Amino acid sequence: MLEARLPEPFRAVFTTRVGTHVGGRYGGTPSTLNLDPRSEDDSHTVAENRAWLADIAGRRAVSPAQAHGVRVVGASEYLEEPEGTPCDGLTIHPDIDGELAALLLFADCLPIVLCSEVDLAVLHAGWRGLLAGVVQQGGRSLMGGPGTAIIGPSIGPCCFTVEGEVADAFAARFGRRVVVGGGDGSSRVDLWEAATVALEELGIPRGQVVNPRLCTACNTDVFFSYRREGPRAGRQGCMGWTVSR
Ligand SMILES: [Zn+2]
Repeated sequence: MLEARLPEPFRAVFTTRVGTHVGGRYGGTPSTLNLDPRSEDDSHTVAENRAWLADIAGRRAVSPAQAHGVRVVGASEYLEEPEGTPCDGLTIHPDIDGELAALLLFADCLPIVLCSEVDLAVLHAGWRGLLAGVVQQGGRSLMGGPGTAIIGPSIGPCCFTVEGEVADAFAARFGRRVVVGGGDGSSRVDLWEAATVALEELGIPRGQVVNPRLCTACNTDVFFSYRREGPRAGRQGCMGWTVSR
């Protein structure tokens, strides 16, 4: 597990596929930290993994039904909604959601943690969400002005090959420099750069965007990757919460 260094009172962690719970059919040896309850993995192992993670925060983990959209809501607000309501970002405000943690799941898409001076958002940003504006929506959903962002382990420009029309859409929205490589299906999109541009538009200077540049598809010994493993890829998590000041 990777822990982000954030200002108080914020906390955020990124899990890997390597866990302590033996069992589960996804991910092989020595054990798998698949967190996806909607997968066909051993449900007991997944439940244990999720309980282990919630214990780290000491919070109830709220884990929405992600849909590659742009909807971002408060974690307590989400709990009031009908089960399965689509949502691709949760905010945590210490006074409103202090007993909760925002948990979103990933296998190549970008986990983005946004911090303002008062609250935090955890966003699920795949290519569809980035084009649709999930980063902007995340910024608008915060009560404070966003000042720091972290892009977690996700597919890098080394591996994210796309069809020409996706490359064109990214070039039109984020500028030509987010497209790497030539045409004929060999174009790659730099989702990290696209997300950084979107974060700059929110007023977060590039220097305040932390990105360890860990590619999930290059490192399947550590991370789940949908591109590499297909429908049986597990999911790692990004969890954000707050502690008492
Ligand atoms: Zn890669």
